[in-house]
Amino acid sequence: MRHQPAVTATVLTTIIFWTIGHANAVPRSKPNQIQYEYVAPKNPAHQPIHDQMKQGRALEHLQELLGPLRLPYPLTIKVTGCDGAPNAFYNDEVVTVCYEMLADILKSAPAHDLPGGLSRADTILGPVLAIFLHETGHAVFNMLQIPVLGREEDAADQFAAYVMLKLGKDEARRLILGTAYHHSLQMPGQQVTLPIQLLSNEHSTPAQRAFNILCIGYGADEKLFADVVEKNYLPKGRAEVCAGEYDDLNFAMTKLIGPHIDKRLARKFHEVWARTVSARRANLARQ
Ligand SMILES: [Zn+2]
Repeated sequence: MRHQPAVTATVLTTIIFWTIGHANAVPRSKPNQIQYEYVAPKNPAHQPIHDQMKQGRALEHLQELLGPLRLPYPLTIKVTGCDGAPNAFYNDEVVTVCYEMLADILKSAPAHDLPGGLSRADTILGPVLAIFLHETGHAVFNMLQIPVLGREEDAADQFAAYVMLKLGKDEARRLILGTAYHHSLQMPGQQVTLPIQLLSNEHSTPAQRAFNILCIGYGADEKLFADVVEKNYLPKGRAEVCAGEYDDLNFAMTKLIGPHIDKRLARKFHEVWARTVSARRANLARQ
């Protein structure tokens, strides 16, 4: 027992040492921390996707778009082949989007523009941007140690929808409808039968993800997305609570993510997207 004070002092010294050491080891957050990598595809079928993204400077534009994020470490955004798995994930400061997933989106896009003003390009650009932003959401939660209530997969979808809404009304509408369209393709029809195990997945079902992103859009701007409810893409019962859902999201993003945004760079956010999107949309329409 007599030795205890000495032991406690040693423990305290150790704790203080490590605390100071740790604090010194964590670099200060700063903007322009996005890096990128186009990995050469192993599957020749993915070469056109790689070439088109590289020629169109897709990752360079994402780098600029996400530049306002203040991060303690660099975040790499990478496109690569995944041996046949259509996947996207975040791990150890790297967002990986597989060519297989991008190929699936291209393949499932409609051949022509859709009625209601949604272009073929929107049905590609929307879900592709949604994937990059969803994974960036995971990266932000992890790298900035943002507490997440509820399921992180839903939170990452909400992060993506919120960022899309900052791209200007017309773009936000196109991208959100395009993303919802892509989700709805994966669960077509009014009645669905699915293995019960699918409901245990950490992701919401594609239909729920479609309703959720439409709800965030409608909650943010009831006029811009009015037709979504009129056409019953988003049922009235859900639509009634969307303003509240958007308020919750806006509060969380402002309070938790807002302090990590470089406000000076963020003012150019809309302009960066607007400068690059027309050429990309024209390219996608031609395919
Ligand atoms: Zn996810």
